[in-house]
Amino acid sequence: MITRSKARSRQSLGSVASPRARPPRRTSTQKRTAQQSSEGVIDGAKAVGGRRSSLAGGRKRSTGQARSCNSSNCKTCPDLLHSLDFSSNITGRKFSAINIHIHEIHCKLQNFIYLLTCLCCNIQYVGETIIPMHSRMNIHRKGKTGCEIAINHFTNVCPGAKFSIRVLEKLPGNGYKNGKRDKEMYKYRLEREDFWMKKLRTIYPYGLNEKSKDMNKKSLNWPVGKLFPPLARHGQRETENRNRTKVPALNPLKHFLNFEQNLMSFPVLIRANECRRLLDSFKIKDIRFLVTDSKKVLLDSYNESRNYWCDLIQDIFLTKTFQDEEVKRKKKKRPKFMFLLILSTKALTTLNSLLSCTILMSLILFLKNFKMMKSLPLFTG
Ligand SMILES: [Zn+2]
Ligand SMILES: [Zn+2]
Repeated sequence: MITRSKARSRQSLGSVASPRARPPRRTSTQKRTAQQSSEGVIDGAKAVGGRRSSLAGGRKRSTGQARSCNSSNCKTCPDLLHSLDFSSNITGRKFSAINIHIHEIHCKLQNFIYLLTCLCCNIQYVGETIIPMHSRMNIHRKGKTGCEIAINHFTNVCPGAKFSIRVLEKLPGNGYKNGKRDKEMYKYRLEREDFWMKKLRTIYPYGLNEKSKDMNKKSLNWPVGKLFPPLARHGQRETENRNRTKVPALNPLKHFLNFEQNLMSFPVLIRANECRRLLDSFKIKDIRFLVTDSKKVLLDSYNESRNYWCDLIQDIFLTKTFQDEEVKRKKKKRPKFMFLLILSTKALTTLNSLLSCTILMSLILFLKNFKMMKSLPLFTG
């Protein structure tokens, strides 16, 4: 017979919980943090960089050492990075994990947002999960269900490549309420996943995420780049090299094969960021040329990696030249000729209704004559 204390000690040793397993009993701390979330205390945008403690993943350790499950069969622990800092592959901007301490990162964590980075090409994917991390990662490794873009990447673009795992944000509790999946928490988790997807720019063709389904209809036809928050000018960057690439007047890189060759000369870790920066320094007409040329090259000699760069270049071009239809329609055309007339006396306001070109012209003539008369000694009084 297993006593309650024995059961608890087993749990803290990290017994593998199946997704269907009943959620562990809540501690008072968990109840409190869940309450905080429903009150909207934990606001992601405000909480960036904040590290609130949470006990959801297991017993807290007093030391700052990283935890490992010490299981020789665990495929997640070797790839799990025990670091709170991470950066976006596309922008190079640095961020810190939210609501978690370094010693709380372990392979059985539940109810959190994570980041996968392909160890071959550095492309990124943001995900959320309620089930323990190692179970979720097994689903990714099997690559049979889930995001098709990510599956395609690990089977066709970087076949068999491994990925690193990082925790971006821990949400309060384990995601269960009264033994059932908490719907409110699920909604919140999706919101936070969407926040990180946009912040780190992981939606295809920038990363491996699909466009989120709950987006309003208006933005469905937008280029993906238009969904991302603009970059802060003074954000922390991975590299301090901020010199813009000087592009000659006759830009040889507008030819796709040259552009591709130039891109491949950069280390894989910064390649996507360099692509974005390079295009930032291009004239729009050169990017347009590059997009057309890339399609021709792709038709001649297709490969998955090239297809990714072509999609990325095209979306950057569409984002740069994008104009919202609604805003366009709302903009009124300026009239060709404008005339400002300020009527201040009662007599002149009666003219208001009679305004036409001829009246206006005769009025101007009249005023001119009047002014001339006024300059005569008879009127100066
Ligand atoms: Zn493990
Ligand atoms: Zn890859």
